[in-house]
Amino acid sequence: MNTHDTEAAGRCPSCGATVPNAFVLIEYEADDERRMYAECPACENVVRPRPSDSSR
Ligand SMILES: [Zn+2]
Repeated sequence: MNTHDTEAAGRCPSCGATVPNAFVLIEYEADDERRMYAECPACENVVRPRPSDSSR
């Protein structure tokens, strides 16, 4: 039940850093999509993390 990466919400669209799940501020669904806002640990902006890989 392991993914190849540590559990991460995604990547910061602004600086590219990995955003861990622990930094997610809010998560919701809209239009059948899961969306979230997280605080980037690197640039400290509130961003919408992008999925780090496109495989499911
Ligand atoms: Zn960032």
